[in-house]
Amino acid sequence: MKIVLEHLTKKFLSRQIKNEIVVAVNDFNFEIPDGKLVGLLGPSGCGKSTTLNLICGLETPTSGKIYFGDLDVTMLPPENRGVGMVFQNYALYPHLYPHLTVKQNIMFPLENLKGADKLSKETIEARALEAAKIVQIDGLMERKPSQLSGGQQQRVAIARALVKTPGVLLLDEPLSNLDARLRLQTREQIRRIQKETGITTIFVTHDQEEAMSISDLIIVMKAGVLQQMGKPQEVYNDPINLFVAQFLGNPAINTFDGYIKDGKVYIGEDCIGKRDAKDQEVTIGIRPEGFQPDKNGCFHCRFDRVETTGRDTSIVCHNDLCTSDPDIRAIVSGDEKIDVKDGVISFDLKDHKVHVFSKEDERVIR
Ligand code: ATP
Repeated sequence: MKIVLEHLTKKFLSRQIKNEIVVAVNDFNFEIPDGKLVGLLGPSGCGKSTTLNLICGLETPTSGKIYFGDLDVTMLPPENRGVGMVFQNYALYPHLYPHLTVKQNIMFPLENLKGADKLSKETIEARALEAAKIVQIDGLMERKPSQLSGGQQQRVAIARALVKTPGVLLLDEPLSNLDARLRLQTREQIRRIQKETGITTIFVTHDQEEAMSISDLIIVMKAGVLQQMGKPQEVYNDPINLFVAQFLGNPAINTFDGYIKDGKVYIGEDCIGKRDAKDQEVTIGIRPEGFQPDKNGCFHCRFDRVETTGRDTSIVCHNDLCTSDPDIRAIVSGDEKIDVKDGVISFDLKDHKVHVFSKEDERVIR
C-alpha cells in the first residue's frame, strides 16, 4: 500500500508553556512507495511519534491529507484504516495481556471483529498460527508473556499487528526496551518479516545506525520539519544540510570553520577543494573516512594519537578551526603508513567525503 502525506500539519497546545502552540508536524509532504520499509529518524521531540499517530488515526491533523493508495483516510477512524501498530511505550498502549497465552494474545484482534467481518474459531486459530510462524514464535503458543524474553514479547506484538493482514505496519521504537544483542537480532527479524510479507512499513527510531541498516528509505526530521528523504547511502553521501550531515554517521562528521574565496575552499591557510560559489564564510564537514594520510597532503593537523580497532585505525588529531568534538577523527585502513613531521600530520581529502555548508542557512553548497 502506497502512503502519501500532503501538507500534513499537527499543532498542539504546549504542555509546558501556557497559550503556546507546538507545531509537532509541519507541512509534511512525502510518498512512500508500496512494499518499502521506511526509517523515520530524528532527535527526541522532533515529531516522529506524532507522524505515526496521524497515519494510524490516533491523532487528527490540524490540516493536510493522508492517502493510502488512492483512498483519502484522513478522517477514517483507526480501526477502519487497516494499520498494524507496535509501540515502544507499554504504559500508554496495551502491549501484551499478561493473563492471556501467546496464542490468545495473537487471536485477540480477530476475536473482536463484529458483524460481517466476524470470523469462525477455526479461521482465527489458523490465522494466528500463520502470523506466529512469520515471526517464528509458533513453538511458544501456550506460554504467558512473562515466560518470554523481551525480544520474543516484541515478536508476539508484531504477530498481533500482522494477524489482521494490515496494508500498513507502523513500528514506534519497537526495539528500545531490548538489550544490545536482542536489539540487533530483533531488527534483523523485522527486516525479514517485512520482506516476506511485503507490507509497507514505517519504523520510528532515534538510532541512526538502526535506521540505516534495515531501511529501504530513510526520512530525517528536525523540529517537525522533514529535512531529507532517500536511500540511506544517498542521504549519508549527499546530505542536504548541516543537520542531516551531523545526524548521520558514527563517528560523526568532523566540522570546521572555513571560507570560499575565488572559487576555492579553505580551512585556515589550507585550500581543500573548489566550489563554484560567491566568496563567503562556510562550515566544512569532513567524514572520518574522507582523510587520506599523505605527507604532501593539502590539509594539516596536529597529531595526537592513533587508536587501533583491528581492521581500522582511528587517527586522533587537532586543528584550531575544528568546530565539532575538539578531537578530529580520521578513520583509515589498519595497514596505512602514518607519517608525522614535527607533530603535524598531513592529509589528502577525498572530494566526495567533503561537504560545504552555507553559514546563513546551513544548506549544502555543491
Ligand atoms: P521521542 O523520540 O522523544 O519519542 P518524537 O520525535 O516522537 O519524540 P513527538 O512525541 O511526536 O516527538 O512530539 C513532538 C512534539 O509535540 C514535542 O514537542 C511534544 O512535546 C509535542 N507533543 C506531542 N504530543 C502532544 C500532546 N498530546 N500535547 C501537547 N504536545 C504534544
